[in-house]
Amino acid sequence: MDKPIYDVVILGSGPAGLQAAIHASRKKTRVLILGRVGKSSLAWAHVENFLGLVRTTGEQMLATGLEQARSFGAEILEEDALSIAPNGLCLGIETESGRHVCARSLVIATGTTRNRLGAPGEKELLGRGVSYCVDCDGGFFRGEDVAVVGGQSAAAGGALTLLGLARTVHLVAQKLEVSPTLRDKLVNSGVILHEGAKVEAIEGATQVTGLTLSNGTRLAVAGVFIELGAKGVLELAAALGLTLDDTMKYIQTDKKQATSAPGVFAAGDITGPPLQMAKAVGEGCVAGISAATYAKNQKLAQEGVTPPDEE
Ligand SMILES: Cc1cc2nc3c(=O)[nH]c(=O)nc-3n(C[C@H](O)[C@H](O)[C@H](O)COP(=O)(O)OP(=O)(O)OC[C@H]3O[C@@H](n4cnc5c(N)ncnc54)[C@H](O)[C@@H]3O)c2cc1C
Repeated sequence: MDKPIYDVVILGSGPAGLQAAIHASRKKTRVLILGRVGKSSLAWAHVENFLGLVRTTGEQMLATGLEQARSFGAEILEEDALSIAPNGLCLGIETESGRHVCARSLVIATGTTRNRLGAPGEKELLGRGVSYCVDCDGGFFRGEDVAVVGGQSAAAGGALTLLGLARTVHLVAQKLEVSPTLRDKLVNSGVILHEGAKVEAIEGATQVTGLTLSNGTRLAVAGVFIELGAKGVLELAAALGLTLDDTMKYIQTDKKQATSAPGVFAAGDITGPPLQMAKAVGEGCVAGISAATYAKNQKLAQEGVTPPDEE
């Protein structure tokens, strides 16, 4: 399959990702933004505390920001990234429709996932069958029956990953909101889909033993993976071996927004509090410039040219 090469790929189309795209594309680099604009935390906000804007909606800011990024040449694909892996001189990224792109440098601006389910048993059985990370904990459930809860790419991708490990994989989704390709892949995969159902309770005294759904169905499972939202930071960071901060919830970066992996930068809520737009755009600006510089230097090095001093 043809794999287009981008200088900079940005995961996330919220304020951090869009600002990174604006700065990277103004440096004459080929930029691709991945992610659904409408899923940014800002999409629901009424903003009063951003310099120079007295009162506006997040929706309006995102629409204008996207147009700005496009006007400087950035491309956008409103799909989630499902997996990332080093691939020779670039990072190979697979999106939820099965497209593959190659990135010389990467900016992770995926925001934070507020992914608690709020069902009885969830808190009590955390670490005893309840998990929030398929890629971290899936291996503990080899040969067992498991369920994944969620309707977006994190859940769909997680269920497909678990098929290679578990005996039976259920997917409980109130509403399945994934690309047609991913939906087809799921339907034809052997994952048992419970669409339109909600989890009423997670059962078990000391270990998970089952799930009760709102349609009255009881699923006997040993593991429940709560994967609400898009493919999240834990999985993507784990795939790249990125260092997290002390809380283990956010990606650690330096002043250039560089992570512990060469060519990988992070910006916005994903790097930790304050979870505010002003911080997200500031970090996005730095990350976009850093990623563009890294990609340009990598190209020069491949041509045997010594890169100029850093800007
Ligand atoms: C109700 C509400 C009101 C708020 N009000 C304010 C306010 O008044 N002022 C203020 O400063 N801040 C406010 N905030 C906070 C502000 O919205 C966030 O700090 C800001 O949006 C963070 O930007 P971000 O780009 O880091 O993440 P987000 O805006 O959350 O964007 C993340 C992006 O990543 C994408 N994504 C996620 N996973 C993947 C993946 N696997 N592949 C590709 N893309 C992915 C998402 O689709 C989304 O586009 C508010 C937040 C909320 C929820």
